[in-house]
Amino acid sequence: SSKYNITVIGAPGVGKSAITLRLLYQEFVDDYEPTKLDSYQTMMDYQGQDVDVQITDTAGQEDYASVRDTFLRSGEGFLCVFSLTDSDSYSHIEELYNQVKLAKSMEPPQLPFLIVGNKSDLESSRQTKTEDAQRFAESLGVKYMETSAKNNENVTEAFQFLIGMLVES
Ligand code: GDP
Ligand code: MG
Repeated sequence: SSKYNITVIGAPGVGKSAITLRLLYQEFVDDYEPTKLDSYQTMMDYQGQDVDVQITDTAGQEDYASVRDTFLRSGEGFLCVFSLTDSDSYSHIEELYNQVKLAKSMEPPQLPFLIVGNKSDLESSRQTKTEDAQRFAESLGVKYMETSAKNNENVTEAFQFLIGMLVES
């Protein structure tokens, strides 16, 4: 069977590792080493079929052009995360999107790229409105979802969405 890679990108501290580890181990890990890049193998169910998935959890490597190019090219689906409580991380999304588009030579709707606003459990500290992020994603032609790694909201759904795009492509 074929194997798909999903690469998790985004600014430091947005919850890339927490989302990844929530999917893999069904628990909230809140003190994962912030500089660690890791790759994991897992199986996901897609419409009753087992799909082999490799998940790459990045960590600041985008600061190094050569490393960044490597993971952008080897990545197939991109879970692009910002924190709903950190507008700086939100303003970083467009640049990441442009880097992925360039590296993959692909455009939406074919480009398997999902924007994720994480930490939806911290509603009182929210800095980005759902409708603003939604409209921004639509302007790029990609989908938007909000997750909480802490409360396990929409995490599986986010990965499922990308798997679906990869399987159907
Ligand atoms: P990364 O640098 O993008 O990998 O971010 P981490 O996964 O290490 O998370 C950074 C911090 O945000 C940690 O203290 C996590 O506990 C916290 N965090 C991650 N996801 C969530 C979430 O969904 N809700 C809340 N409240 N905190 C989160
Ligand atoms: Mg991390």
